[in-house]
This record gives sequence, structure tokens and C-alpha cells, in this order.
Amino acid sequence: MLTLVNSDQRFDKLTFNFLSTLNIIDHIRNTRDITRDELEQILETEDKASIEYLRSSAREVATAAYGNKIFMRGLIELSSHCKNDCLYCGLRRSNSAAVRYRLSDEQIYDCCEQGYKLGFRTFVMQGGEDGWFDDKRMCRIVSTVRQRYPDCAITLSLGERSRESYQALFDAGANRYLLRHETASPEHYARLHSAEMSFQNRIDCLYALKEIGYQVGCGFMVGSPYQTIDTLYADLQFIRTFQPQMVGIGPFISATGTPFQDQPNGKVGTTLRLLAIIRLLHPPVLLPATTALGTLHPQGRELGIQFGANVVMPNLSPRDHRKDYAIYDNKICTGEEAAECRACTEGRIRKIGYETVVDRGDFNPNLEY
Ligand code: SAH
Repeated sequence: MLTLVNSDQRFDKLTFNFLSTLNIIDHIRNTRDITRDELEQILETEDKASIEYLRSSAREVATAAYGNKIFMRGLIELSSHCKNDCLYCGLRRSNSAAVRYRLSDEQIYDCCEQGYKLGFRTFVMQGGEDGWFDDKRMCRIVSTVRQRYPDCAITLSLGERSRESYQALFDAGANRYLLRHETASPEHYARLHSAEMSFQNRIDCLYALKEIGYQVGCGFMVGSPYQTIDTLYADLQFIRTFQPQMVGIGPFISATGTPFQDQPNGKVGTTLRLLAIIRLLHPPVLLPATTALGTLHPQGRELGIQFGANVVMPNLSPRDHRKDYAIYDNKICTGEEAAECRACTEGRIRKIGYETVVDRGDFNPNLEY
């Protein structure tokens, strides 16, 4: 008898947890808000049906907003030089083993030309914080690309710059800017960065970009050292307040030659759950399934899409330099030509029932969902 009672009690507890997790997911979806304890329960549940419900809810919301369309952006990695010393990043200035390169103006234009022929209508120019790409040079590059491809969106991801610099680049023709906030906890931020970097400056940059008129992307790594439920909760609340047009998240992956080289990688499962939560909290967001996710799991990007992501960023950088933009170890897609990278990405997406689109894919705050 005693065993029966115990197993009944166990059943009740499991059923209760399952039902309450489903309620939480509905609650997040309906209110576009989450509590710290709800976040904890979602990140810690091992119940497969609850995770599947989270996945299907997020995918429903993404599909209501964007159909089965996945936007493709062509990524051009301009420079592996960086003046910063972020503890997680393989390109930090004190990593003497990092191979440094920078693309010439002509190499950048060649990447764009190739990308344009492949159908890309968004170019994302990303790089370390490299003084070589000062305002004069960068404005010249942006205005040339703007003039040659008036139908394309230009996205920059060049780290922290002055407000005047962001304004000049915007005036030269840039439309979007990706600058992950990295963590919304100032204490956590201080443990991930060297002393000369400041959380407040990062946040000020994000607000300046928005005020200037950029479509802005913030974001964070999942599983970065010292991350907790509380810091993640702060990240989600920051996203709710800031209302970015884009959010980039991917697992932390250790990088040889950095102080975090022996730290464990972030988890794919946690990244997927957070992608889904972000979709539910902020339905119209443009949310990439990142290369880092694809690096930790052979189907990582496909899973990301199934958990609510709607953007992929195949690499257009020249093949000779691909492996040198080594922000973390074992990065995928470093061997292919741009055309192969595009075809492979497209094939993967089609295989899981989605359609790749190469139009500008601007943020649309008035979507019905
Ligand atoms: N210098 C630019 C671009 C940085 S690279 C900037 O500051 O915005 C883009 C993103 O890669 C970073 O914002 C960071 O979140 C992520 N990243 C860096 N090192 C990483 C690592 N070891 N694992 C996973 N992601 C990493």
C-alpha cells in the first residue's frame, strides 16, 4: 500500500510540474513577460513534453509573424585586430597566438559583389575594434557599398565607437548595428571584460545607436563564465525594456589562448530554450540561429530555427582569412567558398521545411501575430 501511495504522490508531482510549466509558457506568450522563477523552471525542467511545448509555441509565434521565411544575411569579417581584451574572445589583444588580418577596401567590395550575385541583400560587416577602420575609411567603405547596391541593407558590427562615429556611418548609408550587450548585470560584465571596458558605455552605445535611427541588435552568450539565472533574467528584462529589432544569442565556446580557455562551453539545450523565450517575449524580433550554435551541434542552426529563430548569416569572407576570425575554437564554415556556404545553408533550411529569403528583411514592428 505504502508503495502505491508513494508512486501516486510522485505521479501527482510530475503532473503538477508538467501542467505548471505549460501554464508558464502560455503566460509568457500571453503577457510577453516572465518572472525569475518562471525562467528557472523553464531552464531546469527535464520534461520532454514541456520542452516540446515551448518549442512549438515559439515556432508558432515566429511563423505567425514571418511565415516559414528565414532571412539570409551575408557576413563579411573585416578584421581580426582588436584593441580590447575581453576575457572570452580569441581575438583579444593579449592573445599573441591569434592570427591578425584585415581586409582591404577592394577585398570588401569583392565580397559584396560576390554576395550580391548570390542573391544577398543584406551585408553584415563585423570585426574586432580595429583603429585602422577609422571613420574616414569606414565611411568611405559604407558609402561605396551604399552607392553600388542601393537595394541592400548594410549592417555594421564593429563594437563601441563614439556617437559621432555612429552618426557618420549612419549618414554614409549604414542601416543596422549589432552590438551585443553581453550581459545586463554590471557585476557580471566586469568579470567578462578588462577594467577599461564599462557596462555603462556599452548600454550608452546601444541607446545612441537607437536614437540615431539604426535598427539595433543586442544579445549575449549562453553559458558564459559566472552567468546565473539572475543574470539571464536581467538579460531578458533588458531585451523587454530596450525593444531591439534584433537579438543575437549563441553558446559560449572556449577559445584557446584566453583566460577562459578551460571553462566549459555553454549548453545547446539552454540556448534553444532561451531562443524560444526571446521569441515569446518579443514576437517581431529578428533572431539568428548562430554559427556558435552550429559549432556545438551538427544540427544546431536547424534546431535554432525550430525553436523560433528566423535569420541565418552565411559567411562571405574570403576563404583565406576565414579561419583567422577565431573568436572561439572549432568554428564551422571556415573551409567553404561563399557560394558553397550559401548553398549548404539553403539546403539545410529547405530540408526542415523552411524557405530562405534574401530580400532585405527589415524589422517590421507592425506585423500581425
Ligand atoms: N567587436 C565586435 C564584434 C564581436 S564578435 C563587438 O564588440 O560587437 C561578436 C560576438 O561574438 C560578441 O559580441 C560575443 O558575444 C561573441 N563571442 C565572442 N567570443 C565568444 C566565444 N568565446 N564564444 C561564443 N561567442 C563569443
